[in-house]
Amino acid sequence: MEYYLKCTLCGAEYDPKDVPYVCPKHGDEGILDTIYDYRKIAAATNPVAIGASRDFSIWRYADLLPLKDARRSAPPLQVGWTPLYRAMRLGESLGLSKLYLKDDGRNPTASFKDRASAVVVAKAQELGVEMITTASTGNAGAALAGLAAAAHMPAIIFVPETAPQAKVAQLLIFGSQVMLVKGSYDQAFDLCLAASKEFGWYCRNTGYNPYTVEGKKTAALEICEQLASVGATGRRLRVPQRSRSPLQKWEAPDRIFVSVGDGNIISGLWKGLRDLAALGWIDKMPKLMGIQAEGSAACYNAWKAGTDKITPVHAQTIADSIGADLPRDGTRAVRAVRETKGAYLTVSDDEILAAISELARGAAVFAEPAGAAAYAGLVKAVRRGMVGSDETVVCLITGNGLKDIPSAMKVAGEGRRIEPTLEAVKKAMPR
Ligand SMILES: *Cc1c(COP(=O)(O)O)cnc(C)c1O
Ligand SMILES: [Zn+2]
Repeated sequence: MEYYLKCTLCGAEYDPKDVPYVCPKHGDEGILDTIYDYRKIAAATNPVAIGASRDFSIWRYADLLPLKDARRSAPPLQVGWTPLYRAMRLGESLGLSKLYLKDDGRNPTASFKDRASAVVVAKAQELGVEMITTASTGNAGAALAGLAAAAHMPAIIFVPETAPQAKVAQLLIFGSQVMLVKGSYDQAFDLCLAASKEFGWYCRNTGYNPYTVEGKKTAALEICEQLASVGATGRRLRVPQRSRSPLQKWEAPDRIFVSVGDGNIISGLWKGLRDLAALGWIDKMPKLMGIQAEGSAACYNAWKAGTDKITPVHAQTIADSIGADLPRDGTRAVRAVRETKGAYLTVSDDEILAAISELARGAAVFAEPAGAAAYAGLVKAVRRGMVGSDETVVCLITGNGLKDIPSAMKVAGEGRRIEPTLEAVKKAMPR
């Protein structure tokens, strides 16, 4: 769909042909929103047409994405249309009648980041670039490596050398060049940016590249489309692949819980919801609940202080994917919560670890620490009386637990080592 870019700080408007990344007036902080002509989108598509699509991936929303011909430039890997589970048992334990988990660990490289990387790689194909790069705590890089492999495009990924092994394995196995930076994510970010300017690579860096948010917004589109097909009572455990009756409108939840590091996912959800509201496809704006780790809470701090100016922190958390000294999309992430009348909460590493096993045992969804953090935040919000028992609540699980086995093992318990005899089994059985 056609679009232009608009600075989130000064409102200046740009043709994407002239300005590929950020507002030239503000340097790297002048993050750009992608603005569409909603009448053109409405003329091209509608909820009924999308509901009839046999494409169960983010590309069912091609008419709402910033690409000339998504069907040509999209890399051939199935991203998105992840399951939205009705979590009955966890809902009961929290006193919530309509709790849903969206399991984005089910994406091809096992995290939410595939949504962003798919759209950025498609854009890179459209632009005909020769090399694509990103800095990452791990998942954005793994996603870019995977999507670039699918598109046969060379990639160079910058991660902190401390990134979890599984994520580094993903980078390497997909064949990208891997730079293990002796420093923090923030240092890797700045280095990647400098290198992309020096060598003319196309840069996917979160916040800097305007299209990551456009990819990430597809989760909000899916949530509203999938909720509409289960209906307000949400009897089914699982969203059917096809809805029975054509839907004129979709259905927004009351609240969405999501973990926040750079703040690009929450900004993406907000963008998707604003697109849907502008099109008249949803009737209400969900409250966005941003969950940060106590040790990496720059957005929470700004929100609490009533400002959208972000003061960097020294990030320290077990949830590596949401450890960010300076959230690159922080300003928009604070606005997303403030303008939807949501809230920010922080959770401790122990609460995050507990949430990993609660999610696995209560709903059979295995999350990495950053993915479980959203659920830890939900538990805290419920305890504080912030969530009504009849609200429709969606908790976004952003990454798969297999990405970080050492963290899971901290709360998984231990197996019993036994001799290979029936006698030993009898002895070892729980009484
Ligand atoms: C990147 C990531 C997040 C946070 O997204 P931001 O855009 O950095 O706020 C949360 N969970 C997982 C698993 C991630 O990979
Ligand atoms: Zn500007």
